[in-house]
Amino acid sequence: MSDCIFCAIRDGQLPATKLYEDEHVLAFYNIQQITKGHTLVIPKQHHEAIFDLPPETASHLFSVVPKLATALKESYSCKGLNIVNNNGRIAGQTVFHYHLHLVPRYGEEGIYS
Ligand code: 5GP
Ligand code: ZN
Repeated sequence: MSDCIFCAIRDGQLPATKLYEDEHVLAFYNIQQITKGHTLVIPKQHHEAIFDLPPETASHLFSVVPKLATALKESYSCKGLNIVNNNGRIAGQTVFHYHLHLVPRYGEEGIYS
């Protein structure tokens, strides 16, 4: 099994609830939901952080984000949504496979909770 958790999820070696998948991108629920619907979006190719991300990978990844954000807004009836991306341990990154957090916001929680 891959020693990267997100590569293992991509390869079906670890379970995850997937919301979206195409040739290059995978979106699945975060195991620890900051708010209801908290989703992670990853490039299927392993890149550690934004510093390593090829522009074409970033371009495709970001092209699907508006659709995912809209789908989350419609499914969860959230009032807003944060997109968060931690790069490097000092910036709070804990899984070193590039990913975006999509965090639906409902209004009852603090903005950084
Ligand atoms: P980071 O702190 O690197 O920005 O975010 C990593 C995220 O990955 C964390 O919010 C954590 O909850 C999530 N995570 C860690 N292990 C797993 C896992 O096995 N499955 C899923 N779905 N999410 C995970
Ligand atoms: Zn990986």
